[in-house]
Amino acid sequence: MCAAPAVFYGGKITKLFKLADRLYKLPPYLFARLDELKQAEAAKGADIIDLGVGDPDLSTPAPIINKLKQAAADAVNHKYPSYQGMLCFRQAAARWCNKRFGIQMDAVTEVLSLIGSKEGIAHIPLAYVNQGDVVLTPSPGYPVYSASTILAGGQVVEMPLLAENSFLPDFDTISADILNRAKLMFINYPNNPTSAVADADFFKQAIALAHKYNFIICHDAAYSEMAFDGYRPASIFEYEGAKDVAIEFHSLSKTFNMTGWRIGFAVGNKDIIAGLGKVKTNIDSGIFQAVQYAGIEALDNQQTQVDKAIAVYQERRDVLADGLRALGLCLEKPKATFYIWIQTPSGFDSAGFTTHILQNTGIVTTPGVGFGKYGEGYIRMALTVDVALMCEALDRLKKIL
Ligand SMILES: *Cc1c(COP(=O)(O)O)cnc(C)c1O
Repeated sequence: MCAAPAVFYGGKITKLFKLADRLYKLPPYLFARLDELKQAEAAKGADIIDLGVGDPDLSTPAPIINKLKQAAADAVNHKYPSYQGMLCFRQAAARWCNKRFGIQMDAVTEVLSLIGSKEGIAHIPLAYVNQGDVVLTPSPGYPVYSASTILAGGQVVEMPLLAENSFLPDFDTISADILNRAKLMFINYPNNPTSAVADADFFKQAIALAHKYNFIICHDAAYSEMAFDGYRPASIFEYEGAKDVAIEFHSLSKTFNMTGWRIGFAVGNKDIIAGLGKVKTNIDSGIFQAVQYAGIEALDNQQTQVDKAIAVYQERRDVLADGLRALGLCLEKPKATFYIWIQTPSGFDSAGFTTHILQNTGIVTTPGVGFGKYGEGYIRMALTVDVALMCEALDRLKKIL
């Protein structure tokens, strides 16, 4: 629940300070609370190693920064950008999708620029969800899927991601009644927080289900480029029938170390793209054009830098995954994403284990339960520190495990 407003008059919350009911329905934003705990430890003088929030520690490649500098100096770019994104950015996105996945997207009708993919994910329920409509969300999952559903007045129905199903939702366990009432289903592979990946069969099943029950699939592909050992994650649009029912969210954030730049895009069914675009037109005014030019440079020319970053993360993955296993912790070595999903040892729940680690080692990790109730029993570590610091973290953990 949301914290109570700070100001009371005669024990009563005044009308002025009373938040809208919808805000009280939101769970606390996990990363905000995590930050408070971390600040408290840092204030006590702890030497913090942050394996918590998934924000790349590597920097944005220089050619992308240079493109921004150039474009920022040009007065043409100081005006309001177009709502749906500059055509040249949308064309670059379509080109990239074609090069990467072999799929065809029309830059005019099937691509929409986003102020980071989170923005699109947060807004799509406003376009499609009425009061009480069902939205299927993965649990554990990226918290924005359920938060945006709640803000739109929808009903969240969690799809458990269980180890026994390789962290894929089991569609057979969702009742026909729920499926009939569903407007949207969020899926996300490669997956945050479990680091699971999906195969062709899974995407085909999801598409068939969406056709049968008439709902929209929202595929969050934020980690499509972050994969190891030569594995190449798929776009849902590689499978037949997807364009009738799906929208896919892409992000430049993790791929090009651009989390602070706020740029991403959606591709997919033109009516769904138009629905999301209608919400956005009434709320935001697009992305600074200079950032869009930087985005074009990233999508067109920076694959070599992406490959280098992947090699860095892959080495870290090996060090951390092997190190944690040697300490007796139970985990799968991830094929993709920059997260490791670790079972909590007996005697701890997920919040208890992260607190134990933080207070005894200064290492910040994320409790699985913060991603939904089916995340209980796990914690997440992010591969966002260098190997030396990771070894230091392993040394500290050795003393408490
Ligand atoms: C980081 C992340 C995003 C958001 O990325 P932005 O493009 O920076 O908004 C979306 N989905 C998942 C699962 C993420 O982990």
